[in-house]
Amino acid sequence: MLTAHLPSGDVLARLAPKGRWLMPAALIGAVLPDFDMLWFHLVDQGSIHHHRYWVHVPVFWAAIAALTLPGLALFARTLLAPALVFFAALLLHMVLDTIGGGILWGAPFDDRLYTLVEVPAAQAHWVLSFLLHWTFLLELGVWALALYLWCKGRRV
Ligand SMILES: [Zn+2]
Repeated sequence: MLTAHLPSGDVLARLAPKGRWLMPAALIGAVLPDFDMLWFHLVDQGSIHHHRYWVHVPVFWAAIAALTLPGLALFARTLLAPALVFFAALLLHMVLDTIGGGILWGAPFDDRLYTLVEVPAAQAHWVLSFLLHWTFLLELGVWALALYLWCKGRRV
């Protein structure tokens, strides 16, 4: 997914029950894994698919959630809802990345990148290949839903 992670977090927060800090938690969770692009470009020089980094591995975030959520439920209950939305946004990020990019859903037992649709390298640059593939319509759909919910929320 190229462009729709941020609006997907916006949609998630707007559809969640109302609460404090849900929008920032959703927006951060929706884009956080892709900050690995800095490491991908600056350190690894693009030699490893960035979806193989730990921030794109579902079991990593499941372990973090399993460690933090019980503590929040017991000792910082006001942070529980934002944390749940944050982890939901992370999960949504990886689900959306599965459409055309591949995610290590079987890690650590399986090192295959699972993807729903193979986007062929049909253009000179990989970004163009993704932009001109039908799956980009799904991204536009996420943007349209975010815009719709934003407009609807402004009228209430
Ligand atoms: Zn990603």
